[in-house]
Amino acid sequence: MAPLFGGSNPLARPQKLHQNYLPCNFELRIHKNFFSNVLTKTIQDTKNFQKESTVGSYWITTFGCQMNKADSERMAGTLEKMGYIRADDELKADLVLYNTCTIRDNAEQKVYSFLGRQAKRKHHTPNLKLVVAGCLAQQEGESLLRRVPELDLVMGPQHVNNLENLLGKVDSGNQVAATEEAFISEDITNARRESSICGWVNIIYGCNERCSYCVVPSVRGKEQSRYPFAIKKEIHTLAANNFKEITLLGQNIDAYGRDLPITTKEGRKENTLTDLLYYIHDVEGIRRIRFATSHPRYFSKRLIEACYELDKVCEHFHIPFQSGNDEILRLMARGYTIDKYKRIIENIRSLMPNASITADAIVAFPGESDKQYKDTLKLISDIGFDQVMTAAYSPRPNTPAAKWHNQISEEVKKERLQEINALVETTSKRRNQRYLNNTESVLVEGLNPKNSSQMMGRTRTNRLTFVEIPENMEFKFALGDEINVKINETRSFSLSGEVCF
Ligand code: SAM
Ligand code: SF4
Repeated sequence: MAPLFGGSNPLARPQKLHQNYLPCNFELRIHKNFFSNVLTKTIQDTKNFQKESTVGSYWITTFGCQMNKADSERMAGTLEKMGYIRADDELKADLVLYNTCTIRDNAEQKVYSFLGRQAKRKHHTPNLKLVVAGCLAQQEGESLLRRVPELDLVMGPQHVNNLENLLGKVDSGNQVAATEEAFISEDITNARRESSICGWVNIIYGCNERCSYCVVPSVRGKEQSRYPFAIKKEIHTLAANNFKEITLLGQNIDAYGRDLPITTKEGRKENTLTDLLYYIHDVEGIRRIRFATSHPRYFSKRLIEACYELDKVCEHFHIPFQSGNDEILRLMARGYTIDKYKRIIENIRSLMPNASITADAIVAFPGESDKQYKDTLKLISDIGFDQVMTAAYSPRPNTPAAKWHNQISEEVKKERLQEINALVETTSKRRNQRYLNNTESVLVEGLNPKNSSQMMGRTRTNRLTFVEIPENMEFKFALGDEINVKINETRSFSLSGEVCF
């Protein structure tokens, strides 16, 4: 049998698996040993490799959003290109990198507690390299070096592609802070992706909005869209490596292209997200295309029509509304009304009635009255969201709303958050019932980590689905397969089903 894991790289993921279709019962027989063998092999090979590696091992912890996760994959790719190997223990790694988030205060505090532990370690492991990347690095800049003098490198999100160069400066004995606004160069490093089936592709960096609560524009800088040809090239590479699904990423993905120069004869921007979807749709091998996060201000009818027309574009739309009340939206400086938001959803549902609609919402924004908060609850019930990511408002440095005097008490924040979460759970549960007895196409991403007799994947609408592996049948499956699944159980956040033959 051909090796399941690549020969040369001891840490290679099971990308070859889908080339070697295995009979299902055989797959089942090898499950337990399969994973323990792989794990043992990985650790042993890591140790062997470690002996040979002149550079050392690395550990990355990622906080926050998908964009940070995508950045971490690129930085891991750079480190591996430099000769670092992935460590299996954070407290033994030679280089520790925290890719941070400052969207809410609790995310920030978590980073400081992780850093404290590593700073102590550095006192008896002087060769340890300590790096803080991402939004906290950008927000604090050099002052972070003063606060945690054990740090070697502080680098903002715009410097991700420059990691090797910055580490070179550290090797010359410098403590380095790279937080100046920079043009994000095209990535020349292969990302070290966590999935071998679903790949993230950044298409726009930064944000030009000025929501009164949000720290992102000050830490991620102005919008910078990548050129369509560079994006398509990356997708071609993913397809050549047997990836089946891509998710285009951006803080406001539907604002893509506004900073690109080309316009059509009719005066319409040729490089909008809609145009990009048409342009990349023909990449052979890629079966599913997703994108996130969408801003209601830019979500055009043309984009909706494209999603309907283009087979590979999945029927899942993540469009945060933040509040169900127009006055709060105005204070948030969001630039749309609830009516406009509802029209977008109506337009989506008129073409794709079963589309999944997910969103973000903030409760207890400064001055939010009980009635205004209830408008958010009402919107959730009226729309019937498939999922809503909720948060209590958290004052952030250098944002207007943080200075307002009408902040809401922690107690009310907690109460509102609990209530809204309960509503979201019931709404999601009710929405998921529409899948019961339906046949859904599920892209297999792996085995259920808690139950290896089940495959795990997602519907086109992004519902996590567990599928019993049929026993004693001529059934073959592999990572990246799309299989038809009859849904026989629905819950708030996942579905279960059996393979349809
Ligand atoms: N650009 C997207 C948009 O405009 O909808 C959202 C991106 S933002 C990184 C992710 C989410 O974090 C937001 O949708 C918002 O709900 C939440 N968020 C941002 N700032 C926050 C704050 N100060 N307190 C609580 N939640 C916040
Ligand atoms: Fe933050 Fe608003 Fe930009 Fe979204 S659009 S990242 S919420 S400033």
